[in-house]
Amino acid sequence: MEEKKDYRAELFYEPRNGYDGLSPAGREAMDAYCEQYKRYLDSSRTEREAVRNAVSLAEEAGFVEFRPGMELAPGSKIYCSNRGKALMLAIIGRRPLAEGAVITAAHVDCPRLDLKQLPLYEDSELAFFKTHYYGGIKKYQWTAIPLELHGTVVLKDGEAIDVVIGRDKDEPVFTVSDLLPHLAGEQMSKKLGEAVKGEALNLLIGSAPYADEGKDRVKLAAMAILNSRYGITEADLISAELYAVPAFDVRDLGLDRSLIGGYGHDDRVCAFAELRALFDIEGAPARTAVCILADKEETGSDGVSGMKSAAFEWFMRKLCLADGSELDDCFAHSVCISADVTAAFDPNYPDVSEKRNAARLNYGVGLHKFTGARGKSGTNDAPAELVARMRRILDENGVQWQMCELGKVDQGGGGTVAMYMGNRNIDTIDAGVPVLSMHAPYEVVAKYDCYMTYKTMLAAYTSLD
Ligand code: MN
Ligand code: MN
Repeated sequence: MEEKKDYRAELFYEPRNGYDGLSPAGREAMDAYCEQYKRYLDSSRTEREAVRNAVSLAEEAGFVEFRPGMELAPGSKIYCSNRGKALMLAIIGRRPLAEGAVITAAHVDCPRLDLKQLPLYEDSELAFFKTHYYGGIKKYQWTAIPLELHGTVVLKDGEAIDVVIGRDKDEPVFTVSDLLPHLAGEQMSKKLGEAVKGEALNLLIGSAPYADEGKDRVKLAAMAILNSRYGITEADLISAELYAVPAFDVRDLGLDRSLIGGYGHDDRVCAFAELRALFDIEGAPARTAVCILADKEETGSDGVSGMKSAAFEWFMRKLCLADGSELDDCFAHSVCISADVTAAFDPNYPDVSEKRNAARLNYGVGLHKFTGARGKSGTNDAPAELVARMRRILDENGVQWQMCELGKVDQGGGGTVAMYMGNRNIDTIDAGVPVLSMHAPYEVVAKYDCYMTYKTMLAAYTSLD
């Protein structure tokens, strides 16, 4: 057999580090994009804030609030807030919805410590809020770090009061205390998952007593401050959604500034990529472009604002009505990119990953054919035909991508909103940014991968036909 010179290059698939193909202009575009993302993430600490900030960006980009029955034409830009906690946006395409939409679906809720409905108490002349953690957290990571308080208190008359304490540098922060090592012998001998109990995640909020004689003077002082600042009483906390979230700023990370450290990359990094790509579509796309920022992914996508909610059908059916399409025809011909983060290979913990199929930082957007656990349980397994379409459009649009899997077989697993879209008869594939320290109070992503995820969303909107 005749020996060919570049036989390996011709026959083998060899992923490469994205920086090897990054031009100076590409790097400039990447940095500019990441600065925008950092600003969005820094000011979006809850799903409500992420939605509010997305709405103001959308309005700047010419989107208007959707009203059922309003006139829609190719190029119309609309958004629809689902109770202020999730958001659906669309640009109407030139083709009828019966021929399918291109849907990108990310989530904007993140692991955090929610305040209980009766949170406030005093113990040993210190005031605390009881919390109930939200999403999959390693509890020990949430002690002994600065935390901010964000959320909404709704009064009996319906008035909603937004609460943010600790974001501005001159405001106080909060914390959950941890044991000193000197007295932690027993704690340190426990399993990591049992060393900090859920009921020990109590937020320290004050220590100075109210100047009177009665009991619970520190609790009274804390409530008096909340009352003077927000006009609320203890009973109003019952109808509140208040979260303690990490008080870390979003910062460049690494000597070379190639990484971004911050709270909530999962999954606001993909949410922002979707938004930015949607805004960058020129004119009316062939297919209607739909962008979803869902809530409740971290708790299983249930509830009115989660991806299983019929709010999605409601919105899509209204769009279909406008051009005389049937919703089931629309779904049958639609494609969905489930835009969620994946686990980046971590050299500190190599044993949990299978190197050939693990996402690597700086290798571009991570595609998942499937997620789930064990024998692919609880998965959307994207059809090979859809994977092939993605390979084609990403290559044609100069997007660097990598195929990956979350951890070794039987190591664990995880899911996204993909299966809930697949269950609706929508061809769906997962694509997102690889993350280090996922679900920790401080997560890390690579700028290159953030930018490639944005380019993936733009390629999907404009090239999936
Ligand atoms: Mn996620
Ligand atoms: Mn997550």
